[in-house]
Amino acid sequence: MTRRAFIAGNWKMNLDRRASLRLAAALAEGLAAEERCEIAVCPPFVYIDEVARALAGSKIRVGGQNLCDEPEGAFTGEISARMLRDVGAELVIVGHSERRHLYGESDELVSSKLRSALDEGLDAILCVGETLDERTAEQTESVIARQLTHGLAGVSDSELPRVTIAYEPVWAIGTGHNATPAQASEAHAYLRGVLSGLYDDSRAERVRIQYGGSVKPSNAAELLTAREVDGALVGGASLEPDSFLQIVRSR
Ligand code: PEP
Repeated sequence: MTRRAFIAGNWKMNLDRRASLRLAAALAEGLAAEERCEIAVCPPFVYIDEVARALAGSKIRVGGQNLCDEPEGAFTGEISARMLRDVGAELVIVGHSERRHLYGESDELVSSKLRSALDEGLDAILCVGETLDERTAEQTESVIARQLTHGLAGVSDSELPRVTIAYEPVWAIGTGHNATPAQASEAHAYLRGVLSGLYDDSRAERVRIQYGGSVKPSNAAELLTAREVDGALVGGASLEPDSFLQIVRSR
C-alpha cells in the first residue's frame, strides 16, 4: 500500500520568536501547493502559540517536542498534553533520543507520555534508535524492538493510526553522518515486522515510519525514496526555509 509521506521539522532549542515566525511564514508560502506530503513543525514550547496562529489555514501542522506524562499538578517546569492542545499543537514528539539520553527518559516514561498525548487528542511521533555502541554490538534490532514495544504498550488498534514512528539512529542525529538508504530500509522493515507482531499485518502496513538523522537537501532524495521510508524527522536542516523546502520537494 502507499502511505502518505510525513515530513516533520524538529526545531529543538533553536531560533527566537522573530526567527520562528519568519520561518513559519516562509514555509507556509513555500508549501502552499504541497499535496503529496503531510508536513509538521515542532517549535520550542514558548513559540508554539504564535507559530500555530501564523500557520492557521496552511497545510502545516504544529507539534510539541516533548510533554509531561501527567495531566496537571505540581510538576514544576513541565507542560501537559492539554496545554499543548490549548496553544494549537496537534501532535507531539515522544522519546526523542535527546530526551532519552540527556534527560534519562526510560521506555516506561516514554510510553506514559505517549498515553497522555493520545488521551488528550494529540497525534504522536514515537522515536526509536540505537547508539553507535549498540549498533557495533549488533544490538540494533533488540534495542529498537524494545523501544517500540514498550513505547506502544497500551496503544489500541484504533489509536495506532495516530502514531508515526521515527527511526532515528542516535549516531546519525546532528552528526552529519546519516544512515545509508539501505540501513534505513533494513531498520524500517524490521520495525514493521515488530508492528505486525504487536498488531497485525494490515494495521502495521498503514503505520508511517520516518527516518531521522542528518537528513539534508543533498541526501534527502535517496533517503526519502528508499524502500519502507515514509518521510523524515528533520532537525538542523529544518531551521532554514530553503533546506526544509528542498527536502520536502525531494520526496
Ligand atoms: C532530530 O532532531 O530528530 C534530528 C534527526 O536531527 P538532525 O536532522 O539535525 O540530525
